[in-house]
Amino acid sequence: MGNGAKAATKRERNAKDAAKSGGKSQLKTNETAKDIMCVICRSTFLKTARAPALTEHASNKHSKTLQDCFPNFVEVAKK
Ligand SMILES: [Zn+2]
Repeated sequence: MGNGAKAATKRERNAKDAAKSGGKSQLKTNETAKDIMCVICRSTFLKTARAPALTEHASNKHSKTLQDCFPNFVEVAKK
């Protein structure tokens, strides 16, 4: 997993640079599709992301819970 975080950071930086220089409609589309952001590392996830994927991120990256990283995420209640 050593390269994962580094690659993600680089990708994020590239995205920011692209946005600064005017951006493209493709980027904007991608941005709106990403609705869930980790409050700790600011990684973004598609709003269609499932709780297990977010929990995995929280656990693997930060040794925290889903709620710690994504306090705004509301899982569809299953009863
Ligand atoms: Zn994170």
